Amino acid sequence: MERKNLILAGAFVWAAAATGWAQSTLPQDSARQQQKAQLVRGLYTDALTHQQGYRLLESLCSEVGPRPVCSSGDARAIAWAVRKLEELPFDSVYLQEVPDNPRWVRGVETASAVGYGKKGALNVTALGGSVGTPGGNKGAGIRAELVEVQNFQELDVLAAAGKIAGRIVFFNRPLDPSYINTGSAYGNAGDQRWAGAQEAGKHGAVAVLVRSLTLRTDDFPHTGAMSYGDASVKIPAAGISTQDANWLSSELKKNPGLRVQLTLGCEMLGTCTSYNVVGEWRGTGNPEQIALVGGHLDSWDLGTGAQDDGAGCVQSIQALGLLMRSGYRPNRTHRVVLYANEEFGLNGGRAYAASALSRSEVHVLAIESDGGSGTPRGFSTENAAARERLEQFKPFLAPYGLLAYSVGGSGADISALRGQGDVVLVGLSADSQRYFDYHHSAQDRIESIHPRELELGAAALAALLYLFDTNP
Ligand SMILES: [Zn+2]
Repeated sequence: MERKNLILAGAFVWAAAATGWAQSTLPQDSARQQQKAQLVRGLYTDALTHQQGYRLLESLCSEVGPRPVCSSGDARAIAWAVRKLEELPFDSVYLQEVPDNPRWVRGVETASAVGYGKKGALNVTALGGSVGTPGGNKGAGIRAELVEVQNFQELDVLAAAGKIAGRIVFFNRPLDPSYINTGSAYGNAGDQRWAGAQEAGKHGAVAVLVRSLTLRTDDFPHTGAMSYGDASVKIPAAGISTQDANWLSSELKKNPGLRVQLTLGCEMLGTCTSYNVVGEWRGTGNPEQIALVGGHLDSWDLGTGAQDDGAGCVQSIQALGLLMRSGYRPNRTHRVVLYANEEFGLNGGRAYAASALSRSEVHVLAIESDGGSGTPRGFSTENAAARERLEQFKPFLAPYGLLAYSVGGSGADISALRGQGDVVLVGLSADSQRYFDYHHSAQDRIESIHPRELELGAAALAALLYLFDTNP
């Protein structure tokens, strides 16, 4: 009892200190400021108590599942989004056409180190957009010697020495673990996945295996978009799990003639039209000005896209739901935009921006959540002026752990709005330590989501939308 009271008292003091600090940092004037702080507090209370965002994500993952653009899941996701938005008091919910998306389908995908029996089986998955091996699902695949490289410079050196032609190139540069923000480590290793096949193909390689872009050592291969650029020769490309990449690398040192058998049945089957889903909540004061919050509705096919970017979609819907339930009447028009096809070319973002331009729409703010559902840390903007505008809200947001206001990009989908008037582009910054454990792999499932962390992200979006809207 004694001990319990002590703990409770401790918690109370901590909470009081946090609140006191928040109040003391607000500008002096102010009933109005206190009222705003209270509305923000209410958004968090609603989100954490009722967790409606998390329930939306459970529904998306279980009722829709994987939703690569042009798949049946894509169509189900669009219908799902319309239904969910129509349950909220939006003034209108509509679709926006997004043409010319690639219809790429996965097939058989197997690989093994030749001569190793069962021990040689490798966990691989085709990279998005890859061609298949000869004969596709029913063909004999490719069997060739493996050559490991860390980067394109090394590839060029080995090619000049005649060691690339006719071989399978194994790109095995790991993510740099010294980064605090794992997104930067991902960015610095991404050229292997994006352009590995293009570069190796130029030198006569027959296929590439690319170490999965994750900091974790496990058996799950990660997919993701790749490009052949203007290469005339297209060679198959697959991601390989980090565990198997480590094993292959050590075996290669003992057995430099090691051969790999690879079969991929993936292929490109033309194009399709998909749709952005938009919910619009009209402003009462300046309805011609638009504030947007969104994420992308498409996902890869290996998991159910809970983190990438189901989390961002439901946080965006939930953010406006929270504001609606708070009784707030927005000054500007607010839109939630669930973008089509981010993963395979950003067509949704481009279609939205083109439509905004052709209708002379005025966007003042666009926020994207596409960094997973980790605990929110703050916001990232594209320039110092935008950061300054957000930093003025820090006294209201700091009590919720939103302390980081950085310049370093916003979001892939909203970036097409750059340069339209003086729109402020913002990305929600979430803790990144676990994101790439799941990203683009079969691990990207609802089980990887922590409901409270997800809801904190939704409340952070709602709070920023509110504070921005109440600011002239
Ligand atoms: Zn994403």
